[in-house]
Amino acid sequence: MLRARWADLHLHTVLSPCAEVEMIPPLIVRQALALGLDWIAVTDHNSAGNVRAMVAAAEGTGLAVTPGLEVESREEVHLVCLFDTAEQAEAWGALIAAHLPPGRNDERFFGAQYLVDAQGEYLRTEERLLLTSTDLTVEEIVQGTAAAGGVAIPAHVDRPNNSLLANLGFVPQGLDIPGLEISRWATESEFRAAHPDLASHGLISSGDAHRLSEMLRRTAIVSRGTAVTELVRALRDEGGCGVVLRDT
Ligand SMILES: [Zn+2]
Ligand SMILES: [Zn+2]
Repeated sequence: MLRARWADLHLHTVLSPCAEVEMIPPLIVRQALALGLDWIAVTDHNSAGNVRAMVAAAEGTGLAVTPGLEVESREEVHLVCLFDTAEQAEAWGALIAAHLPPGRNDERFFGAQYLVDAQGEYLRTEERLLLTSTDLTVEEIVQGTAAAGGVAIPAHVDRPNNSLLANLGFVPQGLDIPGLEISRWATESEFRAAHPDLASHGLISSGDAHRLSEMLRRTAIVSRGTAVTELVRALRDEGGCGVVLRDT
């Protein structure tokens, strides 16, 4: 059945070095429910290490959690990669790990990267440097995500850094993406006015939260469920599905 769900499909847990320590599964779930969100996605930088804990933390609450990760391309473009299952996200994460440089994370410079359980209890520290670019192109990430059973959406495309439009300057022809993500700093009307050439792309607006207060209830997705195929249908306005963005 078609229904509208408030969705914030881009957020970071304590596995992202830039995220606050409050970004643990039970507090993220609590904040999502307090905000009236129906659907969130967990998207740490270049790793799916905490997706299983997030999915488990939301179990029985009615909140849908889409497992994902935010992958950085060799052009330093960020893409949110979303999957139906934690296994799919982890398999893509394992592939991504093989395309990261071998460096170790410098906690003093970037912050710590914590793997936690569903209660938010510390399990271990990820030592690899996650906040960096892979050696994969934007096209390779889009194709690889699809081959792994998911969908890739260019992240915060209105931003001056780590964005498809800023770093490449355009959406490559034939790039198989269902839509684009705009940040909290842009409204749909502003973005549409600035990019008439991108009118055919659906938009979602996500919080890209690194702290609880940054989670965002601006995107309503009308769909028959929370599978990634339903998100794609909504972004493409197919079969009665669609996306409605609030400006504030
Ligand atoms: Zn990003
Ligand atoms: Zn992000």
